[in-house]
Amino acid sequence: MVKTYRPLTLREALEIRNQTRTVLLAGGSDLMVRQRVWSGAVPEFSDPVLLIGHLKELQGISLTGNLLQIGAACTLAQIINDPGVPAYLKLPLSQMASPAIRNFASIGGNICNSSPAGDTLPLLYALDAWLTIQSKEAARSVAIADFITGPGQNSLQSDEILSQITVTLPGCSRYSYRKVGARQAMCISKLSFFGLADTLADENDRLIHDIRIAFGAVAPTVIRSPEAEALLKGSRCSQVSQLRENVLASYARLLSPLDDLRSTKKYRRTVALSLLDNFLTKDLQRSCIE
Ligand SMILES: Cc1cc2nc3c(=O)[nH]c(=O)nc-3n(C[C@H](O)[C@H](O)[C@H](O)COP(=O)(O)OP(=O)(O)OC[C@H]3O[C@@H](n4cnc5c(N)ncnc54)[C@H](O)[C@@H]3O)c2cc1C
Repeated sequence: MVKTYRPLTLREALEIRNQTRTVLLAGGSDLMVRQRVWSGAVPEFSDPVLLIGHLKELQGISLTGNLLQIGAACTLAQIINDPGVPAYLKLPLSQMASPAIRNFASIGGNICNSSPAGDTLPLLYALDAWLTIQSKEAARSVAIADFITGPGQNSLQSDEILSQITVTLPGCSRYSYRKVGARQAMCISKLSFFGLADTLADENDRLIHDIRIAFGAVAPTVIRSPEAEALLKGSRCSQVSQLRENVLASYARLLSPLDDLRSTKKYRRTVALSLLDNFLTKDLQRSCIE
């Protein structure tokens, strides 16, 4: 039997966390698969479980101006069904797992699981998401790219809980999300791509005012190239074909995919660059025609 705590408030949860080594459980969709010990399959010691998915302080989605705040225990379904959440943010979430799992799996769980294949991550990196992490004594704010330190690794301390995700929503005229898996649903990504661009009318062309490009599962953590984004930002859509080679080369340098059960290095590299090329030559160039 595993000891389980079910606190009534976040404060109570942080107090327990401060005094006892615990495993946090929100929806449990990652943990129940990983912690076979709980089902008695592996007879060894396990830390007590601290249930947090029900805590009110970890719920709620609010949009103030362009500032979106999402409670860490919000389920994927709650976010997908929220009218204030933009379509580009809902798209990657709606392709995760299955409807049943999306009803209890949380966004905070996906972040803290910190898998390179976590499907909320390319999106959250591209949006420069900030995380609020609380302990009994203090709260700290950390950029997602600094929080996740490697495959399955992050800077969460044993007395802390991720409470909120904050995103400043960018303008968006084009976006693309591609999850490449073995089948359409219920699969872990072989790789994933998220691209977003905001373009503004400029004489007979369109100016790329903002652009964000991120890949999942092609390196130990999500990758973005500030160098390539800077190259595209401020350019006209009609110039993308000239910049394309440099942008592809910049991302090619950052890709360090693995061979594993789900895919090969070669496949991941080839498909990643091809998804980027599609985004540049089809999505962005379509902006300049319309
Ligand atoms: C059949 C199946 C299909 C899946 N498909 C996908 C998929 O397509 N894409 C994908 O990305 N994932 C997928 N997953 C993985 C999983 O559903 C997601 O990662 C989910 O978002 C995890 O959320 P959870 O609330 O269930 O996390 P939990 O299992 O409760 O927790 C996951 C980890 O995060 C920690 N944690 C949770 N909440 C917090 C918090 N607030 N503060 C600090 N630490 C916290 C836990 O201690 C644990 O280490 C799938 C899982 C299953 C079982």
